[in-house]
Amino acid sequence: MTNADRPRPDKHSPETLGAMTQSVHAGNQIDPGTGAVRTPLVLANSYALPEDPSQMNWSATDVLFYTRNGGVNQVALQRKLAALERAEDAVVLASGVAALHAVFFTFLKTGDHVVVADVTYEAVFRMFTELLPTKYGIDVTFVDTSDLDAVRAALRPETALVHIETPANPTTRIADVTAVAELAHGVGALLSVDATFATPLLLRPLELGADLSVHSLTKYVNGHGDAMGGSVAGSRALVDRIKTEAMVDVGGVMSPFNAWLINRGAITLPLRMRQHNASAQAVAEFLESDPRVAFVAYPGLPSHPQHELAARQMHGGFGGMMAFALEGDPDTHNRFVSNLRVITSAVSLGHDESLIVHVSSTGPRVAAYPEAFRTWGHLRFSVGLEETEDIIGDLRAALDATF
Ligand SMILES: *Cc1c(COP(=O)(O)O)cnc(C)c1O
Repeated sequence: MTNADRPRPDKHSPETLGAMTQSVHAGNQIDPGTGAVRTPLVLANSYALPEDPSQMNWSATDVLFYTRNGGVNQVALQRKLAALERAEDAVVLASGVAALHAVFFTFLKTGDHVVVADVTYEAVFRMFTELLPTKYGIDVTFVDTSDLDAVRAALRPETALVHIETPANPTTRIADVTAVAELAHGVGALLSVDATFATPLLLRPLELGADLSVHSLTKYVNGHGDAMGGSVAGSRALVDRIKTEAMVDVGGVMSPFNAWLINRGAITLPLRMRQHNASAQAVAEFLESDPRVAFVAYPGLPSHPQHELAARQMHGGFGGMMAFALEGDPDTHNRFVSNLRVITSAVSLGHDESLIVHVSSTGPRVAAYPEAFRTWGHLRFSVGLEETEDIIGDLRAALDATF
């Protein structure tokens, strides 16, 4: 779209706005009671009922009356996310895993078949190896979703859902969302995409043909390491089902305070992602050039097996997440991490501070990882917002102290 074709920007019509403006304005409104220019934090768990409440639908999610159905701050965050995802609607839930659980338990029933990426967030792997098949009779095929022939071969007439992650946690493998969506739709299955590593800015799964876009808001969208949340965006019809079943009836609701924090964090998401992208690219290039580093997996490196696809499918950068390993045993990796002075050893990712985790190369989940991961194990590295030179300096000094 050229500038001349763009509609006049209006902060009350998020579809007329660019992502930076949406991040600032979408979901925010002048508070009608006080005139406050930012949506206030409303901790009430119930709202005044109309004069005649006897005809109310107690499952409704479009009127404010009880916080498990919706609250001022949750609705504000839902509006911001729907704008960023270019979705009809979005729902926010208590954590990323609550959002994933909401997708699986809303759209699957006993006897259904699911195709799931063989590299995913750990809780997804456990839900599909233990909980869903054994307790709920759901049939699962794990596949390498970067291999379209494997996806095609795994699909069946009774496949109800395909669930992928791109970039995948922790290997950063990329899946072709458009191609997988076409295959899934060919058998009448829905496609859900966990795009947490990419954020709604770097990847827009719905525009590429996916039905549902899932995020752990705990990560980049909040961005400050102080709140948990999850979201699912999609058509109004699909999101409504999640709101009614997973939120109202099952109760995985997000707290107003977390919604307020995540909304505040999301204001600077575009600015933060620019720095995460630039810094991670420089860090990945630094690591790849060091002979003490065994491998680096980062979609922005030409050596990444799906670099071209990532460049085509993602917008403005490759994110802040990478995995790498050192030429050494597990103890070498532990010594390296203990020699770091800026980067913190902790789980989670997408925070302002750089976070690193040493992950072993054993266990059932690792079988599908690339050979380099199985040989050396890996360090999952979330490149933070510190000065790039401080991050690289810390890595260099820790390498020198370790070898
Ligand atoms: C962290 C993460 C999740 C789970 O989110 P929580 O907020 O920790 O429940 C899901 N998917 C991916 C890709 C993640 O990194």
